[in-house]
Amino acid sequence: MKRLVLLGAGHAHLIALRQFARHPLPGTEVTLITPDRWQYYSGMIPGCIAGHYGIEQCRIDVAALIAAAGGQLVLDSAFSLSPQQRQVELASGGSVGYDLLSIDIGSQVDTQLFSDYSGQRLSIRPIDRFLQDWNQLYASAVKGRSPRLAVVGGGAAGVELALATARTFDRSPLSLITGDGGLLDGFSGRVRRLAELELARQGVALVSGRATAVNGSLQLADGRRLKTDAVIIASGARPADFVKRSGLVLNPQGFIAVDEYHRSLSHPHVFAVGDTCGRVDGALNRSGVHAVRAGPVLAANLRASLAGHAMTPFHPRRHSLYLLSCANQTAIGSYGPLAFSGAWVWTLKDWIDRRFIAGFDRG
Ligand SMILES: Cc1cc2nc3c(=O)[nH]c(=O)nc-3n(C[C@H](O)[C@H](O)[C@H](O)COP(=O)(O)OP(=O)(O)OC[C@H]3O[C@@H](n4cnc5c(N)ncnc54)[C@H](O)[C@@H]3O)c2cc1C
Repeated sequence: MKRLVLLGAGHAHLIALRQFARHPLPGTEVTLITPDRWQYYSGMIPGCIAGHYGIEQCRIDVAALIAAAGGQLVLDSAFSLSPQQRQVELASGGSVGYDLLSIDIGSQVDTQLFSDYSGQRLSIRPIDRFLQDWNQLYASAVKGRSPRLAVVGGGAAGVELALATARTFDRSPLSLITGDGGLLDGFSGRVRRLAELELARQGVALVSGRATAVNGSLQLADGRRLKTDAVIIASGARPADFVKRSGLVLNPQGFIAVDEYHRSLSHPHVFAVGDTCGRVDGALNRSGVHAVRAGPVLAANLRASLAGHAMTPFHPRRHSLYLLSCANQTAIGSYGPLAFSGAWVWTLKDWIDRRFIAGFDRG
């Protein structure tokens, strides 16, 4: 019996598990290690805090998924990795051995710049913790206070979270601090303009540049101080510490370096996919869209690797569809150079997101 260990319940692993449930891996014991029975779907989290969805509509039951795939679930986190010994050490103190390992643990938010912040600090990852912190922040507003708020991070997640926060805390002043990359770096100018318009319409102050916490408050690179009571951090993806210590070859940003099959460059019995990996051919940026699309190829390559067959390269599409929720049941769409917005874009996003979640209910 071969041992396949899936570390993390990220997007690609969800898809792979669904395939293994439909077409079991012969002679293989599958183990999923993840800290939580529920995997929260990031694409619906802005809609969740804007009040469009309940939490239970935005999550996938990984316990049911691994059971359907005939595998076992270990509710724990990897604390370290010994690729030579083929072993994952767990935060609880135990360890799990493997013949083949696949890592899909996403990325972490770099909160170090804000360690000196004296207000409430909410990091978007891990998402379950973010939702708890959000509920606490919301409870303070329900009591009649209007906290001064900032969202840090000018990417798609930062924009969606700023708009969702503005909708919920409609009496609170709110700034979106974009960081060095500016607003929606990598998106077309037209998408950026549509986002700027929507942020202005919803009363979000756009602040360019980098913020850090100095003497308890937020300070911009030019020395300006922002008076805030809470900050939501949605910037600075960084790899998990144990990945850095693992001995796997990493890319210059510290993510696991993989080839076009999503196999580690240094350890062929280790695969990595989603935000935790860096393709050496530079073919991927970090996004849920790519992590989802890589899922079927990962499943095929794990199957092929176990059977000693040839693997399939994953070719990401040149353009991907991104739909940014504006929290008022409209959305902004981006596809390559194209940009569009309106209620129909939200309807499309809502349909795609609900369909993604429902796809796991059916097993
Ligand atoms: C608010 C928000 C909205 C977003 N919206 C979009 C969008 O609309 N479209 C899009 O393409 N992208 C979007 N993104 C980006 C997207 O969330 C990420 O690119 C995507 O989640 C990456 O998927 P993944 O498979 O790498 O890992 P993740 O989805 O992050 O999953 C990682 C899993 O690994 C587990 N894990 C973590 N550490 C460990 C450990 N040490 N041991 C075991 N398990 C561990 C976690 O608990 C989790 O289950 C959004 C991000 C945010 C924050």
